[in-house]
Amino acid sequence: MKAVVFKGIGNIALEQVQDPTIQDAQDAIVRITMSTICGTDLHMIRGSMTGMESGTILGHEGVGIVEAVGQQVKTIKVGDRVIVPSTIACGTCDYCKRKLYSQCDYYTHNDSDTNTAFYGGPKKSGPFNGMQAEKVRVPFADVGLVVIPPDVNDNQVILLSDILPTAYMGVEMADPQPADTVAVFGCGPVGQLVILVLKKWGIKTIFAVDNIPSRLDMAHKQGAHIVNFDEHDPVSLLKKLTHGKGPDKIIDAVGVDAEHPHYPWAASGNQQEQWLVGNAPWQALEWEVEAVCKAGTISIIGVYPGQSHIFPIGTAMGKNLIIRMGNCNHRAYIPQLLEWVHNKEIDLTSFITQTVAFDKVIDAYKHFDKREDNWLKVALLVQS
Ligand SMILES: [Zn+2]
Ligand SMILES: [Zn+2]
Repeated sequence: MKAVVFKGIGNIALEQVQDPTIQDAQDAIVRITMSTICGTDLHMIRGSMTGMESGTILGHEGVGIVEAVGQQVKTIKVGDRVIVPSTIACGTCDYCKRKLYSQCDYYTHNDSDTNTAFYGGPKKSGPFNGMQAEKVRVPFADVGLVVIPPDVNDNQVILLSDILPTAYMGVEMADPQPADTVAVFGCGPVGQLVILVLKKWGIKTIFAVDNIPSRLDMAHKQGAHIVNFDEHDPVSLLKKLTHGKGPDKIIDAVGVDAEHPHYPWAASGNQQEQWLVGNAPWQALEWEVEAVCKAGTISIIGVYPGQSHIFPIGTAMGKNLIIRMGNCNHRAYIPQLLEWVHNKEIDLTSFITQTVAFDKVIDAYKHFDKREDNWLKVALLVQS
């Protein structure tokens, strides 16, 4: 089969590889119809998330059709159309019973040296081959797959594999009340869906912080107030817009590849180069801790890898902040979010800005990596 293979930092290729096979009685094999490129993939290719093994197939977002199931799979049948949640969990350990799937004990064993199990990630996350491939092996298929109703198409649900559940968990951890002001740092695909969920929760005042015009435009069209950090100091502007107080809740949808502002008088940066790591990995966190109101909440869903050891703890302590964070427990949220889609309460299709044939995936990666205008979210047509 064809798959996107991680060869080394800054080096990926679409290659012929062996088809996956059933290795355990609870496995399924899914033929992928649609996958995506995610910002998390860029962290790994750029090297800001370390520990990738050469030969790992990338991709942790996908929908497809079940092609084979192991003998102990009970609820999933060959031919089912399914969403594959990004994180992998056993479904039966104490953490899974509490719906804390990203902390599944089967994979992490209370070992601080291991991490949430997910598709297409570093060695410490499995490693498991990912979904930028014609087929994928899904462990614990009864919990690791969610069946899609026949009247819902791939475009409508592909974002349920990872980024909508991630956005939802970001909002849930921030726990905003209707009168709260909420700022979203980062208007990439997850940040956009955070705004969508905040509106669904009835939040009236939303601020969107970024510096990419097409992303700020999209946030504005969703009804958010725009803070362009290339034009204003985001901390002072957020304070000014909240009568000096600062937003009640802040959601970080940025992560480790954050960038310093590109003020007009500064050099325009290295936009032509490929696979550059962000030049200000703690920038968003520092702004957030300064900007949020006293005793406010910061909810972090942007990706910060295991080697991240810096946080402005002193300022956060002095302001009595509540800081919540975590890898998404995707499987906990997907059934409810699928209901929203099925009932047409939300439409996710407008957040997919590019739909690309699988043969063109490497080229698409390069556009997305450079944060080119209107390259917000790339869907990959893997197989019909
Ligand atoms: Zn993702
Ligand atoms: Zn488990």
